[in-house]
Amino acid sequence: MDCKKKTNLSFCTCTYESCSRKGICCECIEYHRRSNEVPGCLFSKAGERSYDRSVSNFIRDQQKNK
Ligand code: SF4
Repeated sequence: MDCKKKTNLSFCTCTYESCSRKGICCECIEYHRRSNEVPGCLFSKAGERSYDRSVSNFIRDQQKNK
């Protein structure tokens, strides 16, 4: 199976442009999961821009944007 990085980049909402994992979703998830974090694409626009990928910030972000 080929990597779908090019397609993934077309809808990736993470604004950390210099990240080497951007568009490589399997690496992105693995990286953040290892740190008990959540990938940027699951946050709201404002939540993503905080660059705080912690689970607690994710829950706060979800509650704010119900
Ligand atoms: S969410 Fe994290 S790992 Fe994924 S592209 Fe953004 S900064 Fe990189």
